[in-house]
Amino acid sequence: MTMILDSVGSRPASVPARPWLAGLDRAALSAALTETGVPERQIRMRSEQLWRWIYARGSDDFSDMTDIARDLRDQLAARYDVGRPEIVSEQVSTDGTRKWLFRMPARDGAPAADVETVYIPEHDRGTLCVSSQVGCTLTCTFCHTGTQKWVRNLTSGEIVTQILAARQRIGDFPGMTRPDDGPLPDAERMVTNVVLMGMGEPLYNFDAVRDAMLIAADPGGLAFSRRRITLSTSGVVPEIARWGRETGTMLAISLHAVRDELRDVLVPINKRWPLKDLLDACRHYPSLSNARRITFEYVMLKGINDSPAEARELVRLLKGIPAKINLIPFNPWPGTEYECSDWETIETFADIVNRAGYASPVRTPRGRDIMAACGQLKSASERVPAWKLREEAGEPAH
Ligand code: SAH
Ligand code: SF4
Repeated sequence: MTMILDSVGSRPASVPARPWLAGLDRAALSAALTETGVPERQIRMRSEQLWRWIYARGSDDFSDMTDIARDLRDQLAARYDVGRPEIVSEQVSTDGTRKWLFRMPARDGAPAADVETVYIPEHDRGTLCVSSQVGCTLTCTFCHTGTQKWVRNLTSGEIVTQILAARQRIGDFPGMTRPDDGPLPDAERMVTNVVLMGMGEPLYNFDAVRDAMLIAADPGGLAFSRRRITLSTSGVVPEIARWGRETGTMLAISLHAVRDELRDVLVPINKRWPLKDLLDACRHYPSLSNARRITFEYVMLKGINDSPAEARELVRLLKGIPAKINLIPFNPWPGTEYECSDWETIETFADIVNRAGYASPVRTPRGRDIMAACGQLKSASERVPAWKLREEAGEPAH
C-alpha cells in the first residue's frame, strides 16, 4: 500500500521567506551573527551553539535554543529562519521507502522549487538520496528527470535541509519520535548514508553541493563519515578531481555503456567527454584505493546494453581501477520506450562481472510503487517565465 500525506507541516502562506541559517558555513554564519549585532568576542561561541542546535539537535525553532539569550534569539528570528522546506507530500512505499516532495521558497529572484528526496531503509543502514538541482540540463534518454526541463540550481541550504527535514520526519534526532508506518533500520542512526543521486547533475552545481556536503561531513555538523557520502555524476570530467580534493567523498559514475557510440545516445554528455577521458579521470580520483573504490552504475536496458559481450567489455574497461559495479534494473516511467532486461539476462551479465571479482552487483529496485526508484524522480516544477516572476514578486511562496 502506498500512503500519501499532503502538506505535512506546511508553513502559513503569509510568512515570507527569510534567509536560512542552515547551509551557511562557519564563516557565513559568523557574518550573519555580526550583522545581527553580536559582539566580536561572542561570535565563535554563538556560531558553535547554533551549529549544535541546527545540526546535532535538529532544531527548527529559535525558541528551543535555551542557552542563547532570549533577546538574541528574538533578533535572529526577526531576520533569519532556521530553515526547513515545506513538505508538500510524503509517500511511503510498501517496502518502507519514503519519498518527499519538498517546496523550497522563492527568494532573491529565484522561483520556488519543488524537489524530491528519497529515504531507503535497510536492516543495518538508512540511505538518503538527495537532489542537487530542480530538473537537469542533461538529457540521458532513459532517465525521467532528464525529461524535466532544468529549472534552477539548489542552494547549499536547500541541499542540507533535505537531510534535516528527512531526519526530522523519521525521528532521527535526539528526543524525536520515530514513525510506525513503515520499517526502519535496526541501527543507532536512521540515516547512515547520503547519496547525491536524486534530481540533477551535482557537478553542475559544484559550489553549493560542496558546501552542503562539507557541512554533512563536519563532525560539528551532521557528522557523516566521508565514506558514507557518495556523489554520482554522469561524467563531468573536469570537475571530478576537484570534487575529490575539496570534499574527499566517495564517487559513483553513471557509466551505462561500454562503447562511445551507445553512450553518446544514453548519456549524451559522453559526446563532450568520452569514455577514455572519463576513465582517466577515475584512475586519478584523489584517495582512490581498494578500500575506497569507485562505484560504476550500469542500468540494465533490454536489448540495448545487456549482452554478455558488453559485460566482458565492462570488466576489461575497468581493469586497474579499484571499482564496484552496481547493476541497476531499469525503472520504467510513463512514456519511456526502454524496457528492463529480463532477469536471466541480468543474472548472466552479473555472473560475468562476479567472476571477474566484483561482488553482489544488482541493485534491488526500491520504492517503484511510489516512483521513488533511481531515475523516476520528476517534480512538477517548471521554469516560470520572467514576467510571471515579476508579477509574483513580493508574493509569499505558496
Ligand atoms: N545526475 C547524476 C545523479 C542522479 S541519477 C547521475 O546521472 O549520475 C542516479 C542514478 O540513476 C544514475 O546512475 C542514473 O543514470 C540512474 N538512472 C537514471 N534513470 C534511471 C532509470 N529510469 N532506471 C534506473 N536507473 C536510472
Ligand atoms: Fe540528469 Fe543524471 Fe538523469 Fe542524466 S541520469 S538526465 S545526468 S539526473
